[in-house]
Amino acid sequence: MTREGILFIISAPSGTGKTTLSKELIDFFPQLRQSVSFTTRPMRAGEVNGRDYHFVSRETFDVMVAAGDFAEWAEVHGNRYGTALETLENARRGGFDLLLDIDCQGAAQIRKSYNRGVFIFILPPSFEELQKRLEGRKTDSPDVIGRRILNARTEVREAVWYDYIVVNEDLSVASANLKSILRAEGCRRERVLPPIAERFGISMEE
Ligand code: ADP
Ligand code: 5GP
Repeated sequence: MTREGILFIISAPSGTGKTTLSKELIDFFPQLRQSVSFTTRPMRAGEVNGRDYHFVSRETFDVMVAAGDFAEWAEVHGNRYGTALETLENARRGGFDLLLDIDCQGAAQIRKSYNRGVFIFILPPSFEELQKRLEGRKTDSPDVIGRRILNARTEVREAVWYDYIVVNEDLSVASANLKSILRAEGCRRERVLPPIAERFGISMEE
């Protein structure tokens, strides 16, 4: 790959299908890697430390915040989540694309502090369907599901400032739309030309 790595930031209310869709993207694009966040949330059945998240105590998380280790962090549904600066740096140095599954507060912090990044918001078809998906996933108590639905009503309003919006009604359509967005972003003039302009005698000035 000759172009610089791209930072893709995906946000969605919990239960929309973000994890399912992200996995498809990671399996599809060889140059794309998933950013592994730090969290104080307890591990769910089937999750693996270091693969799904770096699971840390609240004390460790707060020490990292104080040390300036995070590019962004936020409290979501009562737990803390953060993206390490080192994760972004490794992607930049390694020249691969990075997928960040983070909430709107974190996405807004990235947008403010970096002038690069492609912001994608995934919407569920409706709040009713969102509730069904959370219940069907069987990973959260009714109490937690209630809190997530309540938060979703505020979160969806943030969709207004994202670059792209994908509605995850039919999984294969949503997945195809996301793949098109990622492909198109990789072909943007400002990403493709700089490393090869000289080879073709093209000036970067219009
Ligand atoms: P998130 O990461 O956004 O919290 P998940 O990827 O865990 O969401 O998906 C929540 C649940 O909804 C899972 O059980 C998943 O299989 C299901 N799901 C995801 N996308 C769809 C879809 N388009 N139609 C029906 N069910 C879906
Ligand atoms: P879950 O507990 O379901 O894995 O994630 C809950 C929420 O936390 C999701 O909206 C997810 O996008 C968000 N999240 C996960 N990692 C991060 C992170 O590093 N930073 C921020 N700001 N949010 C995150």
